[in-house]
Amino acid sequence: MSEIRLYMFQSGTQKCKVHNIRMGEGNGADYEIPVPWFLLTHPKGNVIIDGGLAAEGLADPRAYWGDGVDSYKPVMTEEQGCVAQLARLGLSPEDVRFVVLSHLHSDHTGAIGRFPNATHIVQRREYEYAFAPDWFAAGAYVRRDFDRPGLKWQFLQGGATDGYDLYGDGALRMIFTPGHSVGHQSFLLRLPKSRSILLTVDAAYTLDHWNEKALPGFLTSTVETVRSVQKLRMLAEQSGAMIVTGHDPDAWPQFRHAPAYYD
Ligand SMILES: [Zn+2]
Repeated sequence: MSEIRLYMFQSGTQKCKVHNIRMGEGNGADYEIPVPWFLLTHPKGNVIIDGGLAAEGLADPRAYWGDGVDSYKPVMTEEQGCVAQLARLGLSPEDVRFVVLSHLHSDHTGAIGRFPNATHIVQRREYEYAFAPDWFAAGAYVRRDFDRPGLKWQFLQGGATDGYDLYGDGALRMIFTPGHSVGHQSFLLRLPKSRSILLTVDAAYTLDHWNEKALPGFLTSTVETVRSVQKLRMLAEQSGAMIVTGHDPDAWPQFRHAPAYYD
């Protein structure tokens, strides 16, 4: 595929609690969130953004993901893994040039190491933190996903590389949005026909968070979290972008999902 298109995918859902997504809310009520990921096709090479949960974990979720499955229980089939879903679009693992990562929490790292020609792009802060997370964040990182021999990495450097434009044509820009994790980034896409699309990823789980009505239930810095949303809101204003929040059971079903696409 050589045209610029954005495909939206989902590797199942995670069962959690309302308070995992909206801080202090829900009185312990159950909640279920989608696990989105994306493919940008481009004449200069195809890009996966995140990649959902690793399908390899499904055989024995607790062994693979650890006790994190008690808080975020994966509900997914093998066919919802990223390699299998791309195969149904006619793409083989060799057809992917970049795997770009918003951050390294395990519901975003299922594509790492699956694509032999891919360079993996992540913020250096995030990569380093993932090897030595603080206690409260440790359950979110699954080292076997990202600590693999022979991976090609490209590291971005926070504010110094903010707005990094992958192909130099504005099709995919990386926006540094720490707060949910120390090295989180979001993505601004400019497509040939549609309006721009802003993938907040976990910088805003839901529109409540985007609209400054709720704090997320997980973060490494409240102040950074809030300011990253403000930064994205300014970018959205400038670019007129459509907002795609990170784990939003209300908004997510309204988007066009693969095999349909945005172009
Ligand atoms: Zn996350």
